[in-house]
Amino acid sequence: MGEYTGRFAPSPTGPLHLGSLVAALASYVDARQHGGKWLVRIEDLDTPRCVPGAADDILRTLEHFGFEWDGPVMFQSERGEAYRAALERLPVYACTCSRKSLDSCQCRNLIHKPEGMHSVRVFGGRTIGFEDRHFGWFEQQVDDFVVRRADGLFAYQLAVVVDDAEQGVTDIVRGSDLLDSTPRQIFLQQELGMPKIRYKHVPVVRNADGEKLSKQTLAPALDWALAAALLNQAALHLGWPPAEAAGPRELLRELAGGF
Ligand SMILES: [Zn+2]
Repeated sequence: MGEYTGRFAPSPTGPLHLGSLVAALASYVDARQHGGKWLVRIEDLDTPRCVPGAADDILRTLEHFGFEWDGPVMFQSERGEAYRAALERLPVYACTCSRKSLDSCQCRNLIHKPEGMHSVRVFGGRTIGFEDRHFGWFEQQVDDFVVRRADGLFAYQLAVVVDDAEQGVTDIVRGSDLLDSTPRQIFLQQELGMPKIRYKHVPVVRNADGEKLSKQTLAPALDWALAAALLNQAALHLGWPPAEAAGPRELLRELAGGF
C-alpha cells in the first residue's frame, strides 16, 4: 500500500463513548497493520458546542486505553488562517437567504458584496464517486453547499479537508455516519488540488433503540476500570476475534497484530 497516515478526529463535545472507541480502534489498528502513522486531531471548530476540559479528558482516556499517537495533536480552533486561505481559493458565492427563504435561494445568480453576516457556499454540480474499503463503490451528486456559516464559523467539511491535507493523511477509517459527507470532502479536495485519500467507513454502534451512540443519545462515557473489556467489545463490533491480554495496552497491541 505504500505510505500510510491515518487519524482519529474526535469533537470535544463530551467524553468518549463506545461508538468513539470503535472509530479510534478501527483507525488505529488499520494504521498499525499497514506500518503507518496514526494522528489525533481535536475537532474543536464549533466552539459553542465544545465542553471545557473535554479535549483533555479525551486525550487522557485514549492514553489509558493504550493508544499511542504520532506527532503533536492538532486543534482545529488554532487553524482559522488555513481555512481562510483555502476559502479564498474556492469558487464561492455569498448566500444572504434566511433559513425560511433558503429553498428558493437564487444567490448563485447574483453578486453580493462579501461583507457582513452571510453564509458562503461553494458552487457544486458534479457527481463524485469513490471506492470505500468496506462498503464498495459509493457515489453522490454534490450540489452547492455551505463552506462558511453565517456566524463566521468554517464548515466541518472544509476544515476536515484542509487539515487532512496539512497532516498528510492518506487513509481515513471512521464511522459510516460520515459516508455521505465524503463526496463533498472529495469535491473540495479536487477543487483545492489536494491529494486523494483512501476511505473505509465502519458500521456505527447503535443503542437498543437503533440510534447511533452519541452524546445526544446519552451514550455513557467509557469507564476506565473496564478498559480491556470495552476494547474487546469494540473489537467484537468490528467483527474481530477477542484478544486475551489482561491490560488495555497489551490487549490493543494484540488486536493490532503485535506490531
Ligand atoms: Zn441564498
